[in-house]
Amino acid sequence: MTSSAGKKVLIVEDEQDIQSLVRLYLEKEGYRTCMAMTGPDGLKLVKTEHPDLVILDLMLAGMDGLEVCKRIRADPDTTLLPVIMLTAKAEESDVVVGLELGADDYITKPFSPKALVAHVKALFRRLERKPDDSPRLQYGALVMDLARHEVAVADRDIPLTAKEFGLLEHLLRHPGRVLTRDVLLNAVWGYDYYGTTRTVDVHVRRLKQKLPLLDEAIVSVKSLGYKLKERDA
Ligand code: CA
Repeated sequence: MTSSAGKKVLIVEDEQDIQSLVRLYLEKEGYRTCMAMTGPDGLKLVKTEHPDLVILDLMLAGMDGLEVCKRIRADPDTTLLPVIMLTAKAEESDVVVGLELGADDYITKPFSPKALVAHVKALFRRLERKPDDSPRLQYGALVMDLARHEVAVADRDIPLTAKEFGLLEHLLRHPGRVLTRDVLLNAVWGYDYYGTTRTVDVHVRRLKQKLPLLDEAIVSVKSLGYKLKERDA
């Protein structure tokens, strides 16, 4: 049993054999599972079953996995829900699109159930690694001191506005995750703010100007928002 045992995994897959196999292996590891055969059913279960992770087949009849993933990300309630995409073909373009649309990881079919379980465990580990209340956040040479409200790169102070600071904090707390403009707007500006999501773009641009080391690290995610690339260790 692992530390993530007991977590619930939603499997959205229209091939019965694969569905059963994945379920068997996950349950053997102590995970709870729920199953959907179609995209719309998967989205329904995301709402009613509150899974901790979704294994999502790319090729589904009707609504494909990319669209399902996009909708999961676009909904503020599920925007951070971890998604592992199953891709039928190892075509680079599918994988790239999948990750752009906000999948956290992908596995190419055919795969061994053991490999899939390893990916699930690794993703849970990755998500549990970061304590959310650390007073200091770090990203390479960048250090953010939340208590003193200071940001420094290689020990040189970088003055930021309050909103830039808030935006940076939110990105640093969720490395590797796609954060939609709405989520960022609500987190940094608050729900009663009447600005547009363009405000987020403007501030991301300023943040990159002030912190050139983030220029390539903060990537724009097609039609959704932004992601801070994850760093190793
Ligand atoms: Ca399929």
